[in-house]
Amino acid sequence: MSEVSEACGVFGAVCSENKPVFPYLYWGLLSLNHRGQQSYGFTTWHEGKFVKREDLNLIPTDAREVERLARALKGSVGISNARYATSGRSGKRHLQGGKQPLLITSKGRSISISYNGNIVNTDKLRIRLRKEFGRFKTDADTEVLAKQVLLSLERSGSYESAVGHVLDEVEGAYSVMILDSQDGFHAFRDVHGIKPYCFAKRDGVVAFASESPALNINGFEEYEFVNPGELVSVSLDCEIRRSQLRKPEPALCSFEFAYFSRPDAVLNGTSIPVYKIREQFARPLLENYSEKLRKNDLIVSMPETADDAAYGLHEITGLSWERAVRKNRYVTRRAFISGKDDRSEVIDKKMNIVASLVRGKSVAVVEDSIVRGDTTKINVGKLKKAGATRVDVYVTFPQIRNPCFYGVDMSTYGELLGAKMTPEEISRWMEAESVNYQNVEGLVKAIGLPQSSLCTACVTGRYPTPEAQRVADEIRAKYFEGVSEHGKRIYERRAKD
Ligand code: SF4
Repeated sequence: MSEVSEACGVFGAVCSENKPVFPYLYWGLLSLNHRGQQSYGFTTWHEGKFVKREDLNLIPTDAREVERLARALKGSVGISNARYATSGRSGKRHLQGGKQPLLITSKGRSISISYNGNIVNTDKLRIRLRKEFGRFKTDADTEVLAKQVLLSLERSGSYESAVGHVLDEVEGAYSVMILDSQDGFHAFRDVHGIKPYCFAKRDGVVAFASESPALNINGFEEYEFVNPGELVSVSLDCEIRRSQLRKPEPALCSFEFAYFSRPDAVLNGTSIPVYKIREQFARPLLENYSEKLRKNDLIVSMPETADDAAYGLHEITGLSWERAVRKNRYVTRRAFISGKDDRSEVIDKKMNIVASLVRGKSVAVVEDSIVRGDTTKINVGKLKKAGATRVDVYVTFPQIRNPCFYGVDMSTYGELLGAKMTPEEISRWMEAESVNYQNVEGLVKAIGLPQSSLCTACVTGRYPTPEAQRVADEIRAKYFEGVSEHGKRIYERRAKD
């Protein structure tokens, strides 16, 4: 269980005939809270003005608070965002400043912007944009993206040519929605389509979302995907205009399938829900590790993203599957009154083992992925303490050896267990009998998309964008020479231009 965080979830909608947009926004964003829990925000357009409500923490579920939001957020068109910060500093002041949607004005034009992803060449863009707009108010890359959009609009006039310019200039992952004071609603996606993005139209409402369950909850059964490199504009009477501005070079994040996306989501290019793909991860694991699996008496999965793969393995091996590892979701860092921020202690208190099920048994543990490895290590230790005679770990996502610069919070080599150790060393470190990773071929086969249309950079070290590749090569060389990464998000180092 990785316990790494994703950048954001986005939801927006345009309703015709003055239908209120807030209920769509609320249910849509609530369905995406797993993509970001540090802050949330809503912006609507009402009587010629933007209305904003935002705060830190989770989207409220208290009825009075939701009613207050509904009363304030009038209008028929709006956008929203549930954020986890993968750019900018993480202190409270910076999280406040980085909340989305971000409202920004220049030369009489205001745009409100909500996006999911991460900009890789943010430093270079900042230097250029500072000359046009002066000092930045936040250290979040949302402001960089918003200012680049405004500048491109000033220079180009139309959304088609402005967004085309943004696609050329901005490197990274971005699924974007914009409300424009002069020009309605627009959605676009980077040419690689690294983050998921879908939309649907029904009964005079057009809605856009990071993942399809946010559309389902609002009554949309059929949906389409915003293509990589595409702009989708929606008029206030819900007419959709699609413009393929740049040739798609798809590189959808493969980690979405193993860990981030909701199990009931359907992502671009696939026709089955994510949970079915997770079940399919079991087949190549069995093909590669049948000898070891023969030594195991039962399957145990790390809740909750590994459950579907464990079920798949149970189905094809006939081994019994016991959900003997249980998680108490209410144990968080905030629960530690001393204020001591001890991650290991939080994990230890959070997980419980049903000892009677594993005592005297050889256990096959199914994990979705290993990033820092501390959660898996603690659970292996707990299983052994509970009396398991043998623990073999089967990991549905391949060994993560390289950082991600596209909005998953693992951007340095130093924090990645897989960058420092072989599987044999990892199994010794976590005192398991073996650690058995999915291979890339198995991952790709289970997803069912060509490898050329997936990002697997954190596994293979081959990045879909050039600046990310350059930075990864540079810091890899330095890291293995022993130069400290200073624990900083590496794409935020000052550009040397
Ligand atoms: S580097 Fe890994 S986590 Fe990041 S976008 Fe690519 S596949 Fe996803």
